Amino acid sequence: MKPCDKHFDALRRVLQVKNLWRLVGSLDAESTRRRARAWLAGEAGPGDVDPLIISILELNQKAVTFIGPRVNLPGTGGQPQCALCEAQAAFRNESIADAWIDNCTDAVLIFVKVNDL
Ligand SMILES: [Zn+2]
Repeated sequence: MKPCDKHFDALRRVLQVKNLWRLVGSLDAESTRRRARAWLAGEAGPGDVDPLIISILELNQKAVTFIGPRVNLPGTGGQPQCALCEAQAAFRNESIADAWIDNCTDAVLIFVKVNDL
């Protein structure tokens, strides 16, 4: 699920600082779905590696692991919840989103460097 605007902007800024935004591809729905499926299936080639998609998938999975599957349920507006907002609420900790974003993007950065991307 795409994070809320506040957390999407925070994630974008961190990816830019870590020089990973240069690998972010088109954000159109079909392209995004294709690259997400490739990543989740373990079939992502060099052209499919998208730090934004990988980070969002990993952050969402982290939230499901720590909070439970309710993270994927629609909120009051019918839209999926922001996993990072849910994590902050569950842990009553406003800094957890920044910490998770930093951790997940560090892992992506290592993956990118190891694979010479
Ligand atoms: Zn949020």
